[in-house]
Formats: sequence, C-alpha cells, structure tokens
Amino acid sequence: MWGRLSSLPQLLMATKKAAGWKVLPHFSLTVHIMNIEKLDDRITLFDIDGFTTSWLIRDRRNILIESGYPINAPELLEGLGRVSVTPRDIDFIALTHVHLDHAGGAGYIAKENPDLKVLVHEKGARHLIDPSKLMESVKKAYGSGHSPEGEMVPIPARQVLTVGSGDAIDLGDNRLEVYPTPGHAKHHLVYFDTKSQSLFSGDALGGKLKGLPNFLMSPPSDYDKESAKQSIDAIRAMEPKRICFTHCGPCATEELNGFYETLKKKHDLWSECVREIAVENPDADPEKMFELFLEKNEELKNYPELHFSFRLSVKGILIYLKKIGKVSGYVS
Ligand SMILES: [Zn+2]
Repeated sequence: MWGRLSSLPQLLMATKKAAGWKVLPHFSLTVHIMNIEKLDDRITLFDIDGFTTSWLIRDRRNILIESGYPINAPELLEGLGRVSVTPRDIDFIALTHVHLDHAGGAGYIAKENPDLKVLVHEKGARHLIDPSKLMESVKKAYGSGHSPEGEMVPIPARQVLTVGSGDAIDLGDNRLEVYPTPGHAKHHLVYFDTKSQSLFSGDALGGKLKGLPNFLMSPPSDYDKESAKQSIDAIRAMEPKRICFTHCGPCATEELNGFYETLKKKHDLWSECVREIAVENPDADPEKMFELFLEKNEELKNYPELHFSFRLSVKGILIYLKKIGKVSGYVS
C-alpha cells in the first residue's frame, strides 16, 4: 500500500516547490512540521500546516474529518502513518464542505482505498466527482492559471455518499451526527460525535488561532449572514463540550465565555462595517475596500498571514450585501 503511494508525495512536493512554498498565502514563512495530538482515546488531531486541521476518530469504524489542501495530502498520509493508520484502515472521510482547504486531500486518500466513502452535502457531491469547475474558479481567483494549493483529483461516484439533516454515521459503538449549517456556504455541514460530545465545526464558527480569539470566514459566493447566525444558534443548542475548529484546533466550550453571542455580533459588526465603507466609497475597488476595512479593524493588521482570508471575507460580505439590496455596483 505505502509502496504505491511513494510517488505521490514526490509528485506533490515537486508541485509545491514549483508553486513556491514561501508565497503560499495561508502559510507562515517557516516550514510547518505537522503536529499530531491525541485528544482522548478515540480522537487524534493532525495540525497539517498551522492553519488547517484534520481529525481522526477511531471506533469500530474509523473516520477522518476534513482532508486539508490537495498539496498537503502527502503530509496528511504521512501523519496518519505515524499513528499506524493507512488509507485501508479508514472507512469514511467526512467533509464539512467542498472548499479546497477542507475537501482537497480526500481524493488522494480515497484513491488508495476503494471501499472508503466520502461524506458530503448533496450540493457538494458533484464537485468531488468532477472537481474541474471548482478548480477552475480557484485558478481564476489566483489569476495565474494554476492553484498553489494543488489540484483536487476526482472521486468515483460510488465512493461519494451524500448526507444531511437527521443522518448519523454508525461508527460501531458510537454515532457521528450530521447537521446542515448554512451561512459560510449553502452546503456546509457540522458533525457531532455523541461519545465525546465534540462538535467538528468546519468554518461554521469561524476560525480560532493562537493569539486571535476568533475571526469570521464569510467568503464568496454564498455567504449569508442570517443563515450563519441561525447555524450558530443551532450549534449552541447541541451543547457540545468541545469544539474542533478546522482552523485550527480544539477548544473546551467551558473556556469559551460568551462565545456564541460574540460571534453572532461579529457577523453583524463586520457586515455593517463593510456596508458603511461601500456606501462611503462607492468607487473603491475590492482591494481598496479591504484596506479601508483593515483601517477600521486595527487588530486584524497584526495577522498578515490571515489577510488572504480576511480579504475573501470582505468580498463575500459585499456580495451578500449586494444580493440583499444593501449595496450596489462593482461586486459581481
Ligand atoms: Zn470554507
């Protein structure tokens, strides 16, 4: 099995080099060594690049939640190997949504185990089976004809399993429940592990990095503020004991004082801030809008490594505001 994989890491590492590791927008300038941490006797986290996390739940059936960027597939496979898990040992990969940093590596792992099923919302399934359209839009966003985060590979339709409201994955001794949580994307799901009471939040609760308590992720093209706030309420009602953020790491909810309310307020504040800027500066281009947004949110200047994400969030909010008729002009 690992012999068959040996050319994949080499190929992707070469791609990574060609893409220029040091200019990747999401990563720090130093090479990140994957951090692997056992949260309890079932859950292991893989901090792939300091920004993106995958989670392995070992039960009678094993499930990997999130799969990182395509370009990080070799590291993730290597990390799994370090805890003696091969793709053949994985029964399911659960994806919160099909953005590249969540779904990108799934095809590489699924390829190594034809019995493995990839779980996704029905609206995301076609992008796993044929990622060409998704990759096209990623490349368009970079404007360079290639994606520095690597190429997704297609997953055979028979390996893609759509899940949604009311579904639960039978892990053997325990269950992983599925909840639709639109807002960040229409097809966003979160997963709730009944045994550990852990909630795998994807991007539904934003991100949480060291030094930065919380930041929104409200990207184009289907960010919806009201849905995002309703999803936060739905998650709060589940009363998870632990939140497992894809960006990045676990948090005991008892440590998150006032978290859900603060997060909901942040959706309103960011949205209102972008609206004001758009109204005051009707001729500003998206880059100028982002600069003005940073000026009004000084604390975000301290996290240049996340400006790529913040820039996308501002654009996503603009598109949302245009959709609901709060701003006009320039955003397509
Ligand atoms: Zn996303």
